[in-house]
Amino acid sequence: MLKTALHYSHDLLKEVVTEGDLVIDGTVGNGNDTLFLAELVGETGTVIGFDVQEQAIQTTQTKLDEAGLNKQVALYQQGHETLAHVIPSDKKVKAAIFNLGYLPKSDKTIITQSHTTLKALADLLELTEDLGRIIVVIYYGHDGGEIEKEAVLDFVRQIPQTQCNVLSYQFINQKNNPPILITIEKKSQKIN
Ligand code: SAM
Repeated sequence: MLKTALHYSHDLLKEVVTEGDLVIDGTVGNGNDTLFLAELVGETGTVIGFDVQEQAIQTTQTKLDEAGLNKQVALYQQGHETLAHVIPSDKKVKAAIFNLGYLPKSDKTIITQSHTTLKALADLLELTEDLGRIIVVIYYGHDGGEIEKEAVLDFVRQIPQTQCNVLSYQFINQKNNPPILITIEKKSQKIN
């Protein structure tokens, strides 16, 4: 069976993330990706997670504590547009994931916004290591979602081919705005 955007996003992370890596969860939400990343990087790695909602940070912290995965995770109740101030200046990021939209079963008016999403992506492109991956799952069925979808697609289409591979994955015959999974893979800049 073809994989859902969620499952495929985890496969794409698993292919590159190994123990000891530094990775980012740009939209912590209910913590599903945060826990997944925490297992991949192990106790020697680091997951830095961002969400603007207190509820998201608290729920995820509790899940991490219960799973014994809190040692390698630092959660920040602040926007992902601030990530360049949080990521240690001597470290490079191996992978990052963003799930755009609103927190399921929560306030549908608190959504990711194109200007802050694009700021985070632009900064991350500079901070990601060669062959590292930035994954953006675009949910856009809600009010405001279409604007952000177009802004993100416009941004990623313009990333020079010499710098990154950019992949788009979506079921195009599904109803109700199926998510679009974008993967940006930094190319190696080494000259052979
Ligand atoms: N990955 C999450 C999970 O596994 O449950 C789902 C994330 S949900 C689709 C989007 C989240 O982005 C919401 O929890 C929302 O509070 C958060 N958010 C909105 N604006 C944000 C920003 N500027 N920086 C970080 N998170 C933001």
